[in-house]
Amino acid sequence: MFLIDCPHCGPRAQAEFVFERPVETIFSVDTPTAELVEKLYTRTNPRGVSAELWRHARGCRAWLRIDRHTVTHVIIAVALWNPAP
Ligand SMILES: [Zn+2]
Repeated sequence: MFLIDCPHCGPRAQAEFVFERPVETIFSVDTPTAELVEKLYTRTNPRGVSAELWRHARGCRAWLRIDRHTVTHVIIAVALWNPAP
């Protein structure tokens, strides 16, 4: 069982969280269709650290950015989701 350290709730079981998508697959509504298709369907899936959008669905319901290693599942960082750079 993995623990995720929610910034609001502290360490909680991974089962309380829901994976939503890799951050790189979040686009604005005015993104051209061709760009969307290319980025969504031809993107690479490399091993290593992945920036992901998660939600603390069975907790505070916060949206979180979680940097997770895709092979070891070790969580490197957890932060509240802030879509603005
Ligand atoms: Zn929480």
